[in-house]
Amino acid sequence: MRIACPYCGLRDVQEFAYAGDSCPQRPDGPDATEGVMFEYVYLRDNSHGIHEEFWYHAAACNAWLVVRRNTLTHAIDSVFPVKDRKAGTES
Ligand SMILES: [Zn+2]
Repeated sequence: MRIACPYCGLRDVQEFAYAGDSCPQRPDGPDATEGVMFEYVYLRDNSHGIHEEFWYHAAACNAWLVVRRNTLTHAIDSVFPVKDRKAGTES
């Protein structure tokens, strides 16, 4: 798999570190009960299809990226810096 870093161009996936699902939103305030936090930290859907993930370009520019890809085909729809992500955006 190759990822098109917005700063470095198309690079091999070995230059990147996978950093998890980008969709869960951290509970805050009175909504952050023990059960809700457990679910946020430990429980993930094993989705198939389009999925947004955090990736870190560790071997080059050190950018944190959001990669939107199909988990069945590994086809990448889009790659953009985390800083450009709108708050509250989910897949
Ligand atoms: Zn890069």
